[in-house]
Amino acid sequence: MDKTQLAPDRPGSLEGRSAVVTGAAQGLGRAIAEALAERGASVLLADINLPAVEAAAADIRSRGGRAEALACDVSRVDDIRLMTSKAVTDFGGLDILVNNAGILHKTAIEDITEEEWDRIMAVNLKSVFFGIQQALPHMKKRGWGRIISISSLAGRMGGYANGVAYSASKAGIIGLTRAVARRVAESGITVNAVAPGTTETDIIKGLSADQVAMLRETIPMKRLGRADNVAETVAFLCGEGADYITGAVIDVNGGIYMA
Ligand code: NAD
Repeated sequence: MDKTQLAPDRPGSLEGRSAVVTGAAQGLGRAIAEALAERGASVLLADINLPAVEAAAADIRSRGGRAEALACDVSRVDDIRLMTSKAVTDFGGLDILVNNAGILHKTAIEDITEEEWDRIMAVNLKSVFFGIQQALPHMKKRGWGRIISISSLAGRMGGYANGVAYSASKAGIIGLTRAVARRVAESGITVNAVAPGTTETDIIKGLSADQVAMLRETIPMKRLGRADNVAETVAFLCGEGADYITGAVIDVNGGIYMA
């Protein structure tokens, strides 16, 4: 066989795997869904934005991948149940869960309301726990699973000027990742977090050109991250080559934080 070709027995191949990616209509989630589909996984793209997520799934199909789309608000446990059962029904099981959906906020400490705090926590952290809770029985059944949750540099360092609830939610993902990783380590399921630094997606479109330039200067590599930097890391964690990595937080940040 051509050594450059992916094959089911090569560490990077995800042929035959069933994956769910949340927040997959655009940005990092879309890039992650594409990277998994390129390696042969069947991918359910879930997002609150149905037209955009349908377009993202159709694009993957048009390039020969296997993908379905679902409208899903990850802050609602009922939606997460539906998401899990759709993956199992459409693809025959669930092997990979990527908890990517997340929202940023810039409210100062004094101005954060209870409602805003609860919304950030529900979308960014509660969703991760219930996604994992729903996925685990299916992964245990197969004796194999990969759970990857997108944390943030903000969860490591506290973030920039505001976004205190965001930083707390992203730090929560790290604790949750480690807690679950310990409890399922003997079931063939790995649980990891990826912590991107500032990455070029719509989530940072509120920043001015000056702010972006300033940020860039603080990064040892002198550039912002690209979505594919994160997507390739997630794809690696899904492969057989990463089967001894669990409870880890992989920083993808151009060297701005070295733990
Ligand atoms: P983005 O805003 O471009 O995309 C987020 C996606 O999540 C969108 O498609 C949106 O519709 C979806 N979404 C929002 N709320 C949802 C909900 N309740 N249910 C389902 N889907 C929902 O952002 P991005 O940059 O691609 O961010 C993806 C993840 O990466 C987020 O968790 C974010 O916190 C994290 N992250 C991003 C950066 C960065 O600089 N881009 C850095 C660190 C961490």
